[in-house]
Amino acid sequence: MQTNLDETIQFLKQPGEGSLFVISGPSGAGKGTIVQALLPRHSRLTLSISMTTRVPRRGEVEGQHYFFVSKEEFESRIEQGQFLEYALYNGNYYGTPRTFVLNKIAGAEDVILEIEVQGGQQIRKNWERRSVHIFVMPPSRANLLNRLQTRKTESEEAIQARLKRAEEEMGHLPDYDYYVINDQLEEAVQTVSAIIQAERQRIFQSLLKGEKTI
Ligand code: ADP
Ligand code: 5GP
Repeated sequence: MQTNLDETIQFLKQPGEGSLFVISGPSGAGKGTIVQALLPRHSRLTLSISMTTRVPRRGEVEGQHYFFVSKEEFESRIEQGQFLEYALYNGNYYGTPRTFVLNKIAGAEDVILEIEVQGGQQIRKNWERRSVHIFVMPPSRANLLNRLQTRKTESEEAIQARLKRAEEEMGHLPDYDYYVINDQLEEAVQTVSAIIQAERQRIFQSLLKGEKTI
């Protein structure tokens, strides 16, 4: 291993391949809100825009919140291997576009994937070497119900389905590296920021030893 001080510092400062930050947690926990506050605070940080077969909510913009496609189109893209991961969630497909994300990390950008737990598992399996998994939780069940109701984007029936799903998703907490309880928004944003910052200082032994991959 290179131990020369200046050469080592030079090496550490070189922009390497970016990391994937997976953010999961029950619908209504505040993932989207946290991510929107995070993006302007970090350079080299990009949000992956997912593709979905869900119908757009009022105010959602094509290409900004999601790429909205039909079930047929989504399934044909699955067959073409266009997703880094995908999952069925409450009857709709959601998936992460592979090429976009791989180009970003190759260009030393870190990428946030705001995805549910099955997608998180697929990323863990395929990107263990460079993915960091963060689980965002509401302060309580009552609070989660209240946030879903005040967001006013789902019917009461859909809210109940999401609450049920939230209980199931909590069972996946042990699959994650970090948890963040989103009570006071600013505190939660700072906690996620600190995780990103810390992960950027991680030492990858194999890279220091001159190997090409982690
Ligand atoms: P998710 O992306 O996890 O489904 P959202 O980011 O859409 O959740 O947040 C759900 C609702 O809760 C939104 O109306 C949002 O404004 C609100 N919200 C998010 N974080 C907080 C917080 N810390 N305190 C109060 N309300 C919040
Ligand atoms: P919503 O319908 O509330 O926008 O999203 C429902 C769930 O799907 C949320 O937990 C959200 O994080 C997740 N999701 C959004 N995009 C993707 C994706 O590309 N892949 C997976 N697996 N889940 C996603």
